[in-house]
Amino acid sequence: MSLRRQLTLSLVIILVLFAANVGTHFWGSYARNESMLAYRNSVSAAQLSTEIEQLLEDQRQQILILAALRDTTEEQLGDAELQRAEDALVVINQKIQKLGELSRGVTELDYDLLWQSSSKLLKRWLKFYRSYNDPTFKMNMNDPLPFLQASARLSELERRQEFIAAQRSDIIDRTIDLTDRITVIGFFSSIFLTATLGYFLLSYTNTSLKRLKKGTERFGSGDLNYRIDNIDDTGELGDLADAFNDMSDKLRNAIYDVRKAKDSADEANAAKSMFLANVSHELRTPLNAIIGYSELLHDEMGDKSDINRPQFQQDLGTIIQSGRQLLTLIDDILDLSKVETGKMSLHCETFNPTVVIKQACEVLAPLLTNNHNELLISDLKELPALYNDAAKFRQVFTNLLSNANKFTQHGHIRVSAQEVPEQPGWITFSVEDTGIGISSDQMSYVFDAFAQAEPSTSANYGGTGLGLAISRDFCKLMGGSITVKSEIGVGSTFTVLIPTDPKSTHAAA
Ligand code: ADP
Repeated sequence: MSLRRQLTLSLVIILVLFAANVGTHFWGSYARNESMLAYRNSVSAAQLSTEIEQLLEDQRQQILILAALRDTTEEQLGDAELQRAEDALVVINQKIQKLGELSRGVTELDYDLLWQSSSKLLKRWLKFYRSYNDPTFKMNMNDPLPFLQASARLSELERRQEFIAAQRSDIIDRTIDLTDRITVIGFFSSIFLTATLGYFLLSYTNTSLKRLKKGTERFGSGDLNYRIDNIDDTGELGDLADAFNDMSDKLRNAIYDVRKAKDSADEANAAKSMFLANVSHELRTPLNAIIGYSELLHDEMGDKSDINRPQFQQDLGTIIQSGRQLLTLIDDILDLSKVETGKMSLHCETFNPTVVIKQACEVLAPLLTNNHNELLISDLKELPALYNDAAKFRQVFTNLLSNANKFTQHGHIRVSAQEVPEQPGWITFSVEDTGIGISSDQMSYVFDAFAQAEPSTSANYGGTGLGLAISRDFCKLMGGSITVKSEIGVGSTFTVLIPTDPKSTHAAA
């Protein structure tokens, strides 16, 4: 559970407990007040009953005395005395009514009985007072029954009120006891729960924070493979751990990328230095020959002795050959650097590859004869026209054919070309020889610039190691590729795959 949820839940539980405590307190005091009010009513009713009982008793005594006087003397009662007596009866009646109010809902049945009997009694007494001075009026006031009936009802009501008062006092005691207990239990459970929640929350947060701290320390010390994965939280702390892990992943990838970029920059730098060293070496060789032979001829021209004309001509030939070699080398280097800097562009035109291949074969025919190689040309008729760079196509083919001838003596060179049946819009041509061959190790680098299969190749066969590098780059530029299959002592086959239109390369690539 998330930290925020845990905190919210804890807060809600504490608030609920607190509200329960406050609620219990208010309910307790309300119940106490209610019980107290009812108790007070009961006590007041009991007191009022006693008071009424006393008043009734006094009134009865007074009436009995007056009745005896009336029977024995002819004495009449004055208006003031009669009025006082009637007022006393009204007071009794009012007190009985008040008792009725106190008895409402509690001892209503007992009160109704009292009311009936007391009303009867009070009416009788009122009649006695009002007719006292009337000599014809006769009433047996010694009859105790109405008074005893009312008195019995009153005692009954009084007993009932006392019983209810005792019951209510008992309820008050029990309510106080219960609310006190609930308040104390609520108070202590709130404290216990708050402390427990606080403890667990603190220990949980503390553990998670320690793990996060350890993780950040490990990341900081460079251990970017470390993972903070022991945080059991799907919320904020879990998110924080994920963010740290994510950050370390990105940091590790960034460091990896920087190292890779540095390595490739170092490699490019080393390759550039190597390229420069190779270029200067390759340039120096023909230049030295040109300068050496030119100095030789210059000195010879200064000599008074006769010039050896055939030797002179041969030396001049060497100078011319070295100059041409130098030009070819410079052309190759320029081509290569143009391709590598992206400045080499395609000059597309529609041409017949069969014608170009045949022309190149014818140009190289004398060289083939020199090495006593037989050229076999097959499958050229059905080639479709190409919309590509004819000059580059020619150069690639010429490179391959001249290499095949250079590394083969008294062998066969087979040139074949055809449309690829399973790849419409593509043609393939290959130059196969029965020469010295290339080992699988050598095959991995012969396409690199200035790379030759053996250190002795240059001495034995000449060359600069640029032909295949340029051929590979040109093939790529034309939208195609070049591959080699070879076996030492058996021969090599260089195969070029090229699209009829460079724009269609994506479709087939
Ligand atoms: P160069 O021929 O000027 O040395 P290339 O780039 O054309 O440069 O060839 C690179 C190397 O590949 C050659 O020096 C040679 O060792 C090897 N090579 C190329 N073609 C052949 C082939 N037909 N037979 C054997 N080796 C070859």
